[in-house]
Amino acid sequence: MEKIIIDLKERYAKILDELKELNQFLFENPELGLKEVKARDKHCELLSKNGFFVEKGYCGIETAFLANYVAKNPGPRIAYLVEYDALPEIGHGCGHNILGVTSVAAGILLREFVNIYGGEVLVIGTPAEETDGAKVKMVKEGAFNNIDVAMIVHPTSGNIHLRSSSSQAMEALQFTFRGKTSHAAGAPHLGINALDGVITLFNTINALRQQILPTDRVHGIITKGGEAANIIPDLAVANFYVISRNKKELDILLKKVLNCANGAAVSTGTTLEIENYETSFLDLITNKTLMEVYEESLKDIGVEKMENSEDSGSTDAGDVSHVCATIHPYMPLYKDVISHSRELAECTVEDGAYKGMEEAVLALAVTGVKLLKNTKLLDEIKLEFSNR
Ligand SMILES: [Zn+2]
Ligand SMILES: [Zn+2]
Repeated sequence: MEKIIIDLKERYAKILDELKELNQFLFENPELGLKEVKARDKHCELLSKNGFFVEKGYCGIETAFLANYVAKNPGPRIAYLVEYDALPEIGHGCGHNILGVTSVAAGILLREFVNIYGGEVLVIGTPAEETDGAKVKMVKEGAFNNIDVAMIVHPTSGNIHLRSSSSQAMEALQFTFRGKTSHAAGAPHLGINALDGVITLFNTINALRQQILPTDRVHGIITKGGEAANIIPDLAVANFYVISRNKKELDILLKKVLNCANGAAVSTGTTLEIENYETSFLDLITNKTLMEVYEESLKDIGVEKMENSEDSGSTDAGDVSHVCATIHPYMPLYKDVISHSRELAECTVEDGAYKGMEEAVLALAVTGVKLLKNTKLLDEIKLEFSNR
């Protein structure tokens, strides 16, 4: 591996200026989810220049893209995932600029080795991680079918690389209760109170809390609750997030929450509609074997220490991990900053961030080379995936 690492480092040094230029451009031109037109074009430009076949508008999503390079000889299909959406007001406060550049660089470095060992390297542009989670639709469209491994490294505060862990499964539910208006003082018996439907929903969910797992979460707000106090409301709407550690536990919890909602409708005489108001995410299942290969690859390039990350939030990478072996570790920005802040955005173009980026790019590429060279290793990863 030593010779390969020297070669990778040389190739990395050759493209570093272009990588920094792309990262700086993204930092200066932050775009919100599904509006990342400039980011899509800039990523595609660099990939196409480096010999990738590029398809914009992948899976029918305008700002998504697929860049791939297929060798003459068959072999593993290795994907690096790119995110490039920013946050309102604070720009790249989640660091998706440097995340995207890292995956692009890993793809460019692995390309030469696909030529040697056979296979395919894919760099997949996945928009709107912060909002609509395009990966969920892309999974449904089959973008990750027949892909052997998917890797994405997210920037994080501090000085230490963190292992991929798990994220929560989440369902975003909207409950719309409908009734009948009437004069609230003059003829209340002629009305059907939709707000009572919502209030009963909150109360039954509060009663349910005693019987749910400590790791379950159900939280909501009332987005419509009537127009005036002297009119019985005929429309009331509540938005909820229902969250569990994994899909199995989420299914159990969802059934209970839906019972609460249906019961609230029956008891108040209202009608009820239930729909998703945002994309729902599955939990992230880290492929442990693949994670070990990545950790070992970090050691190969001289990064000795890696720590566990805390299970956190929800991400659309979760859905990817249900269709192919996936890891979502973290690279340090070598600075202590709060996530989703202006300070984090600022430090993505500083030296510390470039140090973390270089380590992640090399480890991603070394991992890719190992999988291309050692089919037994890939078999182990795939076996773990099918036994998950
Ligand atoms: Zn974020
Ligand atoms: Zn993020």
